[in-house]
Amino acid sequence: PISLFLVPTPIGNLKDITLRALEVLKSVDAILAEDTRTTGMLLKHLEISRPLQSYHIFNEHKAVEKLVGRMKKGEVFALVSDAGTPAISDPGFLLVREVLAAGLEVQCLPGPTAFVPALVNSGLPNDRFVFEGFLPHKKGRKTRIDALIEETRTIIFYESPHRLIKTLEQLAEAFGPDRQACVSRELTKLHEENVRGQLSELIEYYQTNPLKGEIVLVVAGKPEKLETREEKQAAKKEKWNTSE
Ligand code: SAM
Repeated sequence: PISLFLVPTPIGNLKDITLRALEVLKSVDAILAEDTRTTGMLLKHLEISRPLQSYHIFNEHKAVEKLVGRMKKGEVFALVSDAGTPAISDPGFLLVREVLAAGLEVQCLPGPTAFVPALVNSGLPNDRFVFEGFLPHKKGRKTRIDALIEETRTIIFYESPHRLIKTLEQLAEAFGPDRQACVSRELTKLHEENVRGQLSELIEYYQTNPLKGEIVLVVAGKPEKLETREEKQAAKKEKWNTSE
């Protein structure tokens, strides 16, 4: 039996709630919410009435032990965040870890999350990618960016609109101004917009078009050098020749 369901909720468009999310939310003993007001409004819209309990980063450590105790006695919970998939740049990881450590089972439902549509909309390679979440605001920010200089996979960041230009500038400095990127704004909402271009072009664009709303920044990885690709091919040929 499942003790904890992680239930994704819409990141804008309310139609993105899944049938299974509705079923699970209706079935649990209580719903744990990052913000009981936000979730309360959503539940009202969905005509679901279950006990709501707050679960956020400020009470996470303290709450986990109590909740696991209740789960051991047979109570079943759903965790939701303000938007998207719980535990993805949102509270939830600690609870999942401790529920599993107690020998109980968790299940995350598939559903809305911002980084997947942003990655696919970007048009950048998506066969391999890294999710960086939010960059640290101050301490450790440059170290984190510098650690990505040699990264060849597509890189995904969550960013707040007022910090975007600064981030684009820092990335342009580290990766070069001609690196391709895409800014996805207001995904699933009325004013959804995906702006694609070089980092330098995006900087210019957002200097003249002030940014509002929520955003995901997707940046191409470091291009693999032509020589290395040729070298790889040559190496492959060599291997074939010698194994014949
Ligand atoms: N748990 C969420 C998820 O699964 O995507 C992420 C929560 S995180 C606190 C919020 C960040 O997600 C925002 O700052 C933004 O980077 C991104 N985000 C959420 N909704 C978005 C939307 N509709 N359009 C673009 N980005 C969004």
